[in-house]
Amino acid sequence: MENRKKEITAYFRELDRRSFMDSHKDLAGLDEAVPIGFGQTISQPSLVLEMTLALDLQPDSKVLEIGTGSGFQTALLAKFTKEVYTVERIEGLHVRAKERLAAAGFTNIHFKLDDGSFGWEEHAPYDRIMVTAAAAAVPDELVAQLKEGGKMLIPVGTPSLQELKLIKKGEGGRISTSVINFVRFVPLKGKYE
Ligand code: SAM
Repeated sequence: MENRKKEITAYFRELDRRSFMDSHKDLAGLDEAVPIGFGQTISQPSLVLEMTLALDLQPDSKVLEIGTGSGFQTALLAKFTKEVYTVERIEGLHVRAKERLAAAGFTNIHFKLDDGSFGWEEHAPYDRIMVTAAAAAVPDELVAQLKEGGKMLIPVGTPSLQELKLIKKGEGGRISTSVINFVRFVPLKGKYE
């Protein structure tokens, strides 16, 4: 395993998942998605690590995350990149994640309360995009906000099962897609639900 992957894995192992949860803290040690209120979940830890590694973060990457949730995945992204822009549609989750990540000392995370189906155009293009909610189709708006040479991870499929797609934008905007796993995320609400 290369050094960067080792560093990310080591930080992930140190990260206290309980500190991202306001309830069900007794379930924090399970490798499972756990409720965080508002019908949403903190993602399965092994999947958070797998997705972070698959995104191939670079130290100078500008990252867009759709679905801040608890902020657990956001912390991992922000630790290993320059800037993270994260969008959440539920105010209660957005506010708590902002509080937690500020308390943890992060100063490179920008938060937005909005429907992330449309990305965050103002700061585009992004080197990396991570979507942590399931879409029925890949949002055109997110592909448009990906830089040439950029990579995006997004679960795409039905509400009960999705393909975790790794989308790469090459020269001239050429798109290539591979499937790296099968997953089950809560829905990306809105246009691509
Ligand atoms: N990585 C997060 C964590 O570990 O806490 C996972 C969060 S949960 C699986 C998915 C999140 O996506 C939820 O917080 C949900 O409210 C949010 N979400 C769903 N649809 C959204 C949308 N259209 N725009 C922004 N956030 C959305």
